[in-house]
Amino acid sequence: MTDDQNGNAGAASAFGSMKIDFGGTDAAPAGNGTGLNPFGSISIISDGPDEIPAQPAGPIGYTGDPGRTETHVLIIGSGPAGLTAAVYAARANLEPIVLAGSAPGGQLMLTSDVENYPGFPDGIDGPELMAKMRAQAERFGSQIVDVDIDRVDFSGRPFKVWARGVEYRAQSVIIATGASALWLNLESEQRLRGRGVSACATCDGFFFRNREIAVVGGGDSAMEEANFLTKFASKVHLLHRRDGFRASKIMIDRTYAHPKIEVHSNTEVAEVLGDAKVEGLRLRDTQTGAETEVAMEGLFIAIGHKPNTDLFADWLEVDEKGYLVAHDHTRSRIDGVFIAGDVHDHRYRQAVTAAGDGCKAAIDAERWLEREGLAEHQTATAW
Ligand code: NAP
Repeated sequence: MTDDQNGNAGAASAFGSMKIDFGGTDAAPAGNGTGLNPFGSISIISDGPDEIPAQPAGPIGYTGDPGRTETHVLIIGSGPAGLTAAVYAARANLEPIVLAGSAPGGQLMLTSDVENYPGFPDGIDGPELMAKMRAQAERFGSQIVDVDIDRVDFSGRPFKVWARGVEYRAQSVIIATGASALWLNLESEQRLRGRGVSACATCDGFFFRNREIAVVGGGDSAMEEANFLTKFASKVHLLHRRDGFRASKIMIDRTYAHPKIEVHSNTEVAEVLGDAKVEGLRLRDTQTGAETEVAMEGLFIAIGHKPNTDLFADWLEVDEKGYLVAHDHTRSRIDGVFIAGDVHDHRYRQAVTAAGDGCKAAIDAERWLEREGLAEHQTATAW
């Protein structure tokens, strides 16, 4: 398996049968989240079959203390790109500040089993990998604050970024805000988010034990989510609007071969049925237009991602899909503002490529700061 962003079946974790949940996206049944938690919002949840699952945590980890507010390098985002940039910038004595977002860690927080990140021959849980990256960044002096940014001003230096009313000032900025899950945008889907509709199988699959559920999409993410959900669900219906798939052949074959998965091509969701929770789906045949209603207890949307670039679109160049455009490696069109990871990369979208991008952006920022006379020559690339 080649998991990275939206992984498959759970691997052994450092906590044995326990899993770390850093904060799910939507479904949030009442739970028993504990406070064992260096990031504030992380809850430790048991994988045991009869235990009550912890509530997927919401925004957290923010103590109210903004910490330092001035830096050589401000990093926005805390996925593999942001945290790798932080490791490199911190080792170059640039004392980076990372504005990590209210659900820190990026898409790997939604991934149970990463088998293609080098260095982990037995695979590693996504949240565990991110916790290690964060600890590594902090070890060298990165300041990480779990806040969403509200606004940026890149009109002059120092660059200014606001989060929760606090103004941060930086000589350089690395944008590593990644991309977020897309939705069908049906009224019924949005109304029932957290009530049986989810975009995160790893966060919410636990709640669908012995239930019949559906996954929408025809890419690798949908295949992975469908396969992962067979751990819990009695049956998984994969709904795809065409009869050709974008997913890799190995994932398609695995999906068709799974006894618990039924694939429905040329099928789209016209409406999610139910008032307080998902009770069924109204499906439409995309070729004939014929509609049918089926009973269903859950719906997972796995149809791709949107880059998190809204706050930058007025300042930086974006492509037709909304991704930031980088020039000359990691540079943006504003000197001193650099770009790393999925926020500009819709081609590779791998944890390891994002991490590599973060490394490159930090080295580019360091060299740029040196050239501008804003920082002394340091050691980002030293072993
Ligand atoms: P994707 O490849 O863009 O696939 C999205 C799927 O959702 C497509 O099949 C698309 O249908 C469908 N879709 C989009 N909008 C829809 C809508 N409104 N209604 C119904 N269906 C809709 O996205 P992804 O699966 O998230 O994968 C993104 C990238 O990450 C890919 O490069 C993938 O290989 C990679 N990835 C890799 C792994 C891995 O290596 N293990 C795991 C996950 C993802 P159409 O085909 O009709 O457009």
